[in-house]
Amino acid sequence: MATAGKVIKCRAAVAWEAGKPLVVQEVEVAPPQAMEVRLKILYTSLCHTDVYFWEAKGQTPVFPRILGHEAAGIVESVGEGVTELAPGDHVLPVFTGECKECAHCKSEESNMCELLRINPDRKVMIGDGQSRFSVNGQPIYHFLGTSTFSEYTVVHSGCVAKINPEAPLDKVCVLSCGFCTGFGATVNVAKPKKGSTVAIFGLGAVGLSAAEGARVAGASRIIGVDLNSNRFETAKKFGCTEFVNPLEHTKPVQEVLAEMTNGGVDRAVECTGNINAMIQALESVHDGWGVAVLVGVPHKDAEFKTHPIHFLNEKTLKGTFYGHYKPRTDLPVVVEQYLKGELELEKFITHSVSFSEINKAFDLMLAGEGLRCIIRMDE
Ligand code: NAD
Ligand code: ZN
Repeated sequence: MATAGKVIKCRAAVAWEAGKPLVVQEVEVAPPQAMEVRLKILYTSLCHTDVYFWEAKGQTPVFPRILGHEAAGIVESVGEGVTELAPGDHVLPVFTGECKECAHCKSEESNMCELLRINPDRKVMIGDGQSRFSVNGQPIYHFLGTSTFSEYTVVHSGCVAKINPEAPLDKVCVLSCGFCTGFGATVNVAKPKKGSTVAIFGLGAVGLSAAEGARVAGASRIIGVDLNSNRFETAKKFGCTEFVNPLEHTKPVQEVLAEMTNGGVDRAVECTGNINAMIQALESVHDGWGVAVLVGVPHKDAEFKTHPIHFLNEKTLKGTFYGHYKPRTDLPVVVEQYLKGELELEKFITHSVSFSEINKAFDLMLAGEGLRCIIRMDE
């Protein structure tokens, strides 16, 4: 059932130039085309990935663009061919999709949908190669297929998870990126055994979600590694039992961790985006069985350099997008886990601002303050 679509005029936060404050202004949002949906975004939050593409220091610059990918909203209208979503549905958009038809979607082992997998350089809709946003006829580009820093956005229906309408959207919005990414990296990919030792590199919202995963999996020691010691007090609430600030040691952090753990940690989850931390994560795991999982989004020119002996010594290196969750299949289940009281999302939400104050959320992240800042679209 397609609804006849009209152009909507609404407010969006447009990134016109790298590193310059976003401009909250009126944009036009075209109706959804085949297999697309138009969403009314109610809450969105800022993830470090948005900041990388806004700074465009280590990523391809694409401007003008509407950033944003961690959000919750309601379906406003649907395009032709959309059968699984209808106006009024409560949804979470996700930066990586699930077409349910490709080899990846049919495999239990992959969440890397061939059609809708994350592609940060794509700036238009997949269907017709056009943008649905414009200002005075000038196209404004999309980001991660989601562009949630807008009161209305158009998304491929395969990148939208329909969730229980009882879920509070101002909380579950953090499931649409940060929480699932970190938590899943631990429970679905690193899979620590009960009683094991897990190192978490980077204690932002993603890293602390990974720590939460380690706690739930029954890890007995969770070592938080961060350059910002202000993170350590908060991290205790997420199960971290010990801390290392690499800046406070003369030895490389790999050696510090090896000494603390009699040879290395059982699992390491990297959530920094820094190439050195990625290498340290691998080199910190125990030989024979250690597994390191990369989650941080690397600089576009980054190269991973390590001695191959780590692999001969049977250390394993893995990486994951979105915590290995299939967004449409798995996310509604994670929402139910939250509703049953199994997940504490509230503690990730440290700040909240109105949409017109969205640049404050960027300031907080750049200052390394707080975890997630919820942006309220209706104010
Ligand atoms: P954040 O900025 O809130 O947290 C990152 C933390 O890493 C900070 O506390 C910072 O001090 C610390 N850090 C930076 N360099 C470090 C180093 N060399 N050693 C130790 N600690 C260091 O960011 P976030 O929103 O939690 O995101 C974390 C990372 O995860 C980012 O790179 C982001 O792009 C990435 N990410 C990946 C996915 C995915 O699907 N793989 C999804 C979302 C976010
Ligand atoms: Zn994100």
